[in-house]
Amino acid sequence: MAEFAVTVIGSGSALPMNGRHPSAQVVQYDDLFCLIDCGEGTQTRLREYGIKPFKITIILISHLHGDHVFGLPGLLSSFSHLQRKEALTVFGPVGIKGLLDEIIRYTEMKINYPLHIVETNPTSLSKIWTKGNLDVFTFPLQHRISCNGYLLKERSSLYKLKKEVVESMRLTPDQIHQLQHGMDLEINGTTMPNHLMTYGEELLLSYAYCSDTQYSKMIIPWIKNVTMLYHETTFGNDLIDTAELTGHSTAGDAGLMAAEADVMCLLTGHYSSRYKDVGDLISEAREHFPHVLESIEGKKYSLRMLTQQH
Ligand SMILES: [Zn+2]
Ligand SMILES: [Zn+2]
Repeated sequence: MAEFAVTVIGSGSALPMNGRHPSAQVVQYDDLFCLIDCGEGTQTRLREYGIKPFKITIILISHLHGDHVFGLPGLLSSFSHLQRKEALTVFGPVGIKGLLDEIIRYTEMKINYPLHIVETNPTSLSKIWTKGNLDVFTFPLQHRISCNGYLLKERSSLYKLKKEVVESMRLTPDQIHQLQHGMDLEINGTTMPNHLMTYGEELLLSYAYCSDTQYSKMIIPWIKNVTMLYHETTFGNDLIDTAELTGHSTAGDAGLMAAEADVMCLLTGHYSSRYKDVGDLISEAREHFPHVLESIEGKKYSLRMLTQQH
């Protein structure tokens, strides 16, 4: 079974304070490593947490506020210094190409590996990338400037065979293929239901990333039923006016979103630097939804393990 896990690299908002750093996460699916957002200092912390930057094949940037993108030029530059040869694709909102092109030009940065920068301006859920069994989608969030959310979704998995049954039946490779794809078998004119010979389809895992954003009902259908939802909780409920003014969410907003989207688990983050301890934010989110996690930098959250605990 493919590993599907999220490692939090940065869990704070604009200011690196209280031991927290600006936004960045690494999502691992099987042998694919995807970096989501790249706040200042991300490359240093990737090394601290034992994630080899060369393993990253795609980078998804939510928006162009500095706390999500200031670490990207440094990372792209280091790849060149370290003789990266593998291609790298960076997805982000409209403007990211111009921003990176100018930085590359003014700093005379050499990029000696294939670098593709793809701008997207989604109006609803749209697929941007696929590899193996994983699809990556983007969708619009509700922030002060264009901001893209991301959804990473396992596509399909083969049905797991009941080994003892299948071996005793001496099935052909073709019949095994049919079983693995969820079909019943016709044997000597009799239909053998699939569930007698397989354990059915594995639960498909999915991860949605919503930062930075205000609470918006529009987002709910796109993140419905995901295994883990990351939703920003910049402010406590008492600062709802500040949240609205700055295009952010309160902890209560995030809890409500998790409940309405009927997700399995909510990962909070993008905490304002005013909070040394985010315990109250977690409690406020829990008023709406029970399974709430704090973002701890360096911690790896396994989606598959979550489903087993549930
Ligand atoms: Zn931010
Ligand atoms: Zn922002």
